[in-house]
Amino acid sequence: MRIVVLAGGIGGARFLRGLKRAVPDADITVIGNTGDDIHLFGLKVCPDLDTVMYTLGGGINEEQGWGRADETFHVKEELAAYGVGPDWFGLGDRDFATHIVRTQMIGAGYPLSAVTEALCDRWQPGVRLIPMTDDRVETHVAVELDGQRKAIHFQEYWVRLRASVPAEAVVPVGAEQAKPAPGVLEAISEADVILFPPSNPVVSIGTILAVPGIREAIADAGVPVVGLSPIVGDKPVRGMADKVLAAVGVEATAAAVAEHYGSGLLDGWLVDTVDAGSVERVEAAGIRCRAVPLMMTDADAAARMAREALDLAEAVRAA
Ligand code: GDP
Ligand code: CA
Repeated sequence: MRIVVLAGGIGGARFLRGLKRAVPDADITVIGNTGDDIHLFGLKVCPDLDTVMYTLGGGINEEQGWGRADETFHVKEELAAYGVGPDWFGLGDRDFATHIVRTQMIGAGYPLSAVTEALCDRWQPGVRLIPMTDDRVETHVAVELDGQRKAIHFQEYWVRLRASVPAEAVVPVGAEQAKPAPGVLEAISEADVILFPPSNPVVSIGTILAVPGIREAIADAGVPVVGLSPIVGDKPVRGMADKVLAAVGVEATAAAVAEHYGSGLLDGWLVDTVDAGSVERVEAAGIRCRAVPLMMTDADAAARMAREALDLAEAVRAA
């Protein structure tokens, strides 16, 4: 079975770990979000690609959900001693090595997709991880700060400000001119099923879908497209997805997120059992819906969610 998964960071990575456990023999291609990428200290950092790579490769800091296990922060402390910031983005010593290798390869002319493949040679994530594009896309958030409207980098909004001010707009700068990375459209057209894990619908999956050609390829693939809600009980399970949903005029409910993707894209949608009351509303929007436990408390729970998603895909296919 060939499965394509669109993934952000934590939600995508933990779901993928469950999917691998549920179907060990499947051929899984992950299309990763690069809208969160940022240049820090002269280095190119790809937080979502790295979260997927480290989680599936066994190097993730489990409690945090991002960054390396057994991490130290000597480089960061030394940079701070020189007064060189930003101090709000946590880059550990082990993590730095990844960004150094990536930046060096990009400087030597390799596209991000080739660099990601090289990094994955070490981590052996057991999936094919492809960035959504080799072109530069950077998600910016329009906010009002000190009485002024400004566009700031997504990481500044998310990490420095902890989404503490309303997001007025979310713009994936560069997306319109970006091309899908080599292999992205091919993987979609050859897939047997396409899954949207419980990743952020705006700044993770929404950004991937903003690269011209990707949304259309998924809608036209002619195979079941099934998603899992990142919103449980009208709140994001982790993080502040409600803030960016508000910016695109979508309420933070499992049903509203399904409607936001729409039946043109989505064939099936899983909501948590606490949101069983919204199944009817999602089905009324032309999307098959089931309520199942959606909390990824451990890899087994994530594997059960993956099986439910594949099961719903089969029901869609049989219909
Ligand atoms: P990020 O790039 O690290 O923010 O990660 P993603 O975009 O992949 O995923 C973030 C989303 O995952 C958030 O909106 C969370 O609500 C959701 N999420 C995290 N853990 C869980 C979980 O256990 N269950 C569900 N249903 N969603 C989760
Ligand atoms: Ca992210």
